[in-house]
Amino acid sequence: RYPVICIDGPSGAGKGTVTWRLAQALNYQLLDSGALYRIVGLKAYEAGLVSADASQPIDENALLVLTQSLDISFVPNNDSGRVDIVVNGEAVGEQVRNETVGGYASQIAVFSQVRQALLKLQQDMATRSGLVADGRDMGTVVFPDADVKVFLTASAEARAQRRVAQLLNNHQAADFDAILATIKARDARDENRATAPSKPAADALVIDSSTLDASAVYEQVKAYCQK
Ligand code: C5P
Repeated sequence: RYPVICIDGPSGAGKGTVTWRLAQALNYQLLDSGALYRIVGLKAYEAGLVSADASQPIDENALLVLTQSLDISFVPNNDSGRVDIVVNGEAVGEQVRNETVGGYASQIAVFSQVRQALLKLQQDMATRSGLVADGRDMGTVVFPDADVKVFLTASAEARAQRRVAQLLNNHQAADFDAILATIKARDARDENRATAPSKPAADALVIDSSTLDASAVYEQVKAYCQK
């Protein structure tokens, strides 16, 4: 297989930027595994299987059938600096990127059978070219023998602050306390689930980006990849 670089960590730690820049610099493909879980989360919401209320039980069998019915592929988009996701022949737009869908994603991501159904699709990407993979379990589960593993984290407060700045920049309302609470709830669900909990691989370089900007993080990761 081709070289694999794993960038894991919680949302808002800056994984997306580092992953994109590395993929560009090395001419590798990019795997945005979070988008996979977001798509399943969104489709599950549309099918009435999940809601914003995370305490509601989820019909695991129906969720699995739904997950297995999705035909998902990734297409890099140089204009947006992201990867377009095509599901059952239709491009999924920015609608999967919001925090509401992030919440649905983390609810469906606790089911081991759902994760299993998405595993091969992710691993197959490393059979075609070099890969930079962004997620929670890239280094621990999906690519345990990856060439480079980085766990990029930051305090919940720093991540909430970044999110606030981003929203204000887009002229949207931003409530720091509400955003912080949402981030903490999603972190807790991702870190405490039984299957593939979000945590650094034993052989990962852990970087705390709380006081670093995106360029500093990128330079650090790039230098580590060249070792
Ligand atoms: O990284 P992103 O915020 O897009 O991920 C959305 C959610 O999908 C995460 O909160 C997590 O629950 C789930 N996820 C996962 N494993 C991955 C990537 C994402 O469980 N490799």
